[in-house]
Amino acid sequence: MTEIFAGSFTQQEPIPDDGIAAALAVMQTGRLHRYNTAPGEVSQAALLEIAFAAQVGAEYCLAVASGGYAMTTALRACGVGHGDRVLTNAFTLAPVPGAIAAVGGVPVFVGVTQELVIDLDDLAAKLDQAGVLLLSHMRGHICDMDRLMALCDAAGVTVIEDCAHTMGAAWNGVPSGRWGRFGCYSTQTYKHINSGEGGLLVSDDAEGMARAIMLSGSYMLFDQHRAAPPPETFARIKYETPNISGRMDNLRAAILRPQLRDLATQAARWNDRYRALETGLAATPGLRLITRPDKEQFVASSFQFLLLDWPADAVAAVLGRCAARGVALKWFGGAEPTGFTSRYDSWRYAPSAPMPASDRVLAGIIDMRLPLTFSLDDCAMIARIIRAEVSAVWQGQAAAQ
Ligand SMILES: *Cc1c(COP(=O)(O)O)cnc(C)c1O
Repeated sequence: MTEIFAGSFTQQEPIPDDGIAAALAVMQTGRLHRYNTAPGEVSQAALLEIAFAAQVGAEYCLAVASGGYAMTTALRACGVGHGDRVLTNAFTLAPVPGAIAAVGGVPVFVGVTQELVIDLDDLAAKLDQAGVLLLSHMRGHICDMDRLMALCDAAGVTVIEDCAHTMGAAWNGVPSGRWGRFGCYSTQTYKHINSGEGGLLVSDDAEGMARAIMLSGSYMLFDQHRAAPPPETFARIKYETPNISGRMDNLRAAILRPQLRDLATQAARWNDRYRALETGLAATPGLRLITRPDKEQFVASSFQFLLLDWPADAVAAVLGRCAARGVALKWFGGAEPTGFTSRYDSWRYAPSAPMPASDRVLAGIIDMRLPLTFSLDDCAMIARIIRAEVSAVWQGQAAAQ
């Protein structure tokens, strides 16, 4: 019997009931704008910021319209402007170089290792080219943050973390997003908490956060923020900083608060699914699993493996055969960017020199989402299907040689 998987790789869980109730309550007040509060009321957006700052141990937090907006705001708050070069990952998603381009910056791409993290040797070689690194913890893979920070601190390079896939994760006990000057998170539907669109920015830097709050479109209402630097921090900044509206509204904040409370539980459920896949795919000939270091406390909302050095037609055959059995795999190695799989050489607005070692890795990266609507049995079945189809194509290749 040929197993066919019938689940949807894009179907997330519903918003928790208390999130739905909180959303209805906000709508009943009509006060959806974060600065539209009744006397004595603290807005849902401000409450979300307090909760998230406490959860990651940050002094300050700002809720914004998207993860991409959080990144552009962090870059602007760090003074990145027209023509400035910004280091970033060759393996990431389009909104990351897009955020750099949005502020007029020029991305300088840093390579990727076979463990799918930034290549720290390549980074070390390029640190003299820029003052800021926009570090993307792409697909939740966290590099050796102790070494990365030592390198960047020594070179005077400011680190901004893109934590779109690492909300709830940590390196060596320190939450992802708390290593750099700013941590940027997304609350878009496919990330770890879901408000459709949305983002969060955290920092301990009072001046930087004051700028970020002004940038986000706070008019002169910054005193309505709670997880914010004291009002005197704004004294000069409020005249100097343009308003580039990108606030979060109370409706989204209301549905995020219960999800934030549940984040650790959800993270454990994601990781159970990840381990089920990993177990099911162990020792599959031709398939390389990603080693996860002990210091990396990840949240696996997606799963990756490598078909390293496979010819493109063989990778395409695996994808086709898995798709026919209901398993939607994505490939970062395709010649043309499709869906969300683009890579540094797809972003032609940011020319780069070829990186052969990274190209070899990128050409082999297979990626899939791991929504919590999948059961552990679903994950075991997905692993059986991938294992069978990878093996079939692998044996066919060997026979042809
Ligand atoms: C989704 C994503 C972002 C941006 O988040 P949006 O909220 O969609 O703007 C940034 N980086 C990575 C790696 C992402 O996957």
